[in-house]
Amino acid sequence: MTIGNIPKEIRRKPSARAYVLLAYLPTTRLEHVSNKAQRRRLINNLYHACMGKVLKPLESAGINGIFMTSGDGLTRRNHPIWACFIGDYPEQVLTAAVPTGECPECPVPRDEIGEPEVPPGYRDLEAILAVLDSFDTDPANFLQACSELGVKPIIDPFWKNLPYSHVYRSITPDVLHQLYQGIMKHLIAWIVEAYGAEEIDARCRRMPPNHNIRSFMKGITALTRVTGVEHDQMCRILLGLVVDAPLEGGLSSAPLIRAVRALLDFLYLAQYPVHTDETLELLENALAVFHDNKEIFVDLGIREGWNIPKLHFALHYAELIRLLGTTDNFNTEYTERLHIDLAKDAYAATNRKDEFAQMTIWLERKEKILRHNQFVQWRIDGCPKVEVQEWLPPGLELDRKTHLSKHPSACSVSLDSLEHNYGATYFRVALKRFVASKIYPDVTRAQLEQKLANIRLPFQKVPVWHKIKYLRTDPFTKVSSTADSIHVHPARKDSRNRPVPGRFDTALINDGTGHQTGIEGMSSRPSFHSLLIGHPQGIVLDASGLYFRCRKKPSRHYFQEMSWFRNILPTLNGIHHSLNRGSITNSIKSSR
Ligand SMILES: [Zn+2]
Repeated sequence: MTIGNIPKEIRRKPSARAYVLLAYLPTTRLEHVSNKAQRRRLINNLYHACMGKVLKPLESAGINGIFMTSGDGLTRRNHPIWACFIGDYPEQVLTAAVPTGECPECPVPRDEIGEPEVPPGYRDLEAILAVLDSFDTDPANFLQACSELGVKPIIDPFWKNLPYSHVYRSITPDVLHQLYQGIMKHLIAWIVEAYGAEEIDARCRRMPPNHNIRSFMKGITALTRVTGVEHDQMCRILLGLVVDAPLEGGLSSAPLIRAVRALLDFLYLAQYPVHTDETLELLENALAVFHDNKEIFVDLGIREGWNIPKLHFALHYAELIRLLGTTDNFNTEYTERLHIDLAKDAYAATNRKDEFAQMTIWLERKEKILRHNQFVQWRIDGCPKVEVQEWLPPGLELDRKTHLSKHPSACSVSLDSLEHNYGATYFRVALKRFVASKIYPDVTRAQLEQKLANIRLPFQKVPVWHKIKYLRTDPFTKVSSTADSIHVHPARKDSRNRPVPGRFDTALINDGTGHQTGIEGMSSRPSFHSLLIGHPQGIVLDASGLYFRCRKKPSRHYFQEMSWFRNILPTLNGIHHSLNRGSITNSIKSSR
C-alpha cells in the first residue's frame, strides 16, 4: 500500500520505502476441491475475504478520520480513502469481480470489446452490490442473478463497505502489462507474421548501434520469455524495421505503417509524466488512428477479430489519467521490484518451515532497524531541519549538459584521414567556407566561393573526440546520468587484429527553426556523419573573428565541431556526397 500524497518521484524509488507491505495473501490453489467451478469461486472469495480483512480499518477511518503524524512533525486528522488498485489483468478482473475476457471498468459486452468506442458510463455499482447481497436472501438464484449481471459470485467483495470508493473507477492503467507485455507484444507478433521472421531478424541485425538502443544481433523473433524491458527496446526500433518494407501480394503498407506508428505514439504519449488536455487529445487520436487502420492485419489474414481486453482498456486511459493522475503513478514495475525485497528476500531469511511467521517478524525488525538507523544518522548530522523541497514538474528537465573528455580520443588526425577514414568528405572546403563566412559576413554566396581560394589552413592535423555525452541531472537527487551520446569511430582493428567496423551515429541538429518536440526544423535529412574535432593547440577560435592566428602558448580551449551535410545523396552504393553546406557550430543541440 502507498498513499497518494507522496510525490511520485519519491514513491517510485524502492529505496524510499513509500510502499508498505500489509499482508501476504494466500496462494493456495485449493486442490482438494474437486469441482473446478467451485474451486475457482472459492479462490475468488478467499481473495476478497483476505483483502476485506486487511482493508477493514479504512471503513471507519474514511468516515471518522484518524490522527496521523506527517514528515513535518505535525499531527492532523486524515480521512484515508481507498482510491485505486494497481495490478495486472487477472488481478484487475479478480478485484472488479468480472469474468475474465471482460473489461474491469465498463459494461461492454464480451463480443463488442474490439469496438473502437467505449459505452458511456461505468458498471452499475448499486445494482451489482444489490445482486451480491442477495446471497443471504435468495441463495437459490444467486449464481443465476450474478451471471445475468455479468459479475462473479463474490459474497463479500472487499470494496463493499469502503467509504467514497468506486471500484469501477479505481482500476488503474498498467503500462508494463497492458502496453509492453500486452498490446506491443501482440503488435510485434503481427509484424513478424506480416513480413516474415527472416526479414525482420535480418533488418534487426542491420540496425546501426546507438545509445539507448539495444542491438538485437540475433533478431527478435527467436527470443523466448521476453521481458518488459526487452519489449521496450524492441519498440524503439519497430517503426524503423518496417517503414520501407514491402508487403507480400502487392498490398500497400501505408495502413500498416500508420497503425504501427499510432500504437507507438499511444505507448509514448501514455507515459508522459505530465499531461494537458492537448496531450490527452493526442493520446485519444493516436488510438483512433490505429482503429482506423487496423483492418490491414485482417486483410493480411493475421487477425480475425479484435477481442483483446488490453486493447479495449487503452480506450479508458485518457479518462483514467484525468481521474487518477499520470500512468507513472501506477507502474507495476515498482511493485514487482518490491516483490523481491519484501517477499523473496524475506523468504530466503527463513528456515523454510512455518515461513510466514518468520517472514513477518523479519520484515518488522528490518523496518524498525532502518527507521532507527535513520534516526541515529539524523542525530549524528546534528538534527537538521527537514527542508521543504520545491516541486519541479517531473521529467521536464530538458536541459542537457554536454560533456567531452579532457583529452581527445585521437590527438593528431590528418585532414586526409578525416576525409577518408572519418567520412567527413569535403571537410577542408567546409571549414574554409565557415571561416570565410565569419571573416566576410556581408558578401554574396558567389563572392564567398571566390574568397575560399585565399584561405589557407595553417595546420594539417587536428585532435578528434570520438564521443560526446549529454548529461541530465535529476532535479530531486541531483544525480547526473548520461541521457544520450554520439559516437564516432573509424573502422579499426581490435587487439586480436580482427576488423571492427566504423561507427558514425546519426544526430538531428536543430538548425534554429526547430521546436522542442518533433523533428520539424531539424536538419531535414539527418543522415550525416558527425565528427567532433578540436582545433590544434596554439590556434584559437575566438569571437572577435581572428581565426587561425597562432598563439605562442598552447591553448587549452577547444571547440566542438560537427561537420554536417545537408541533402546527402544515398552513399550506400558509392554515390558521392553532395555537399550543399558544411557548417561549424559551437553549440550543438541533439535530439532523438
Ligand atoms: Zn471498458
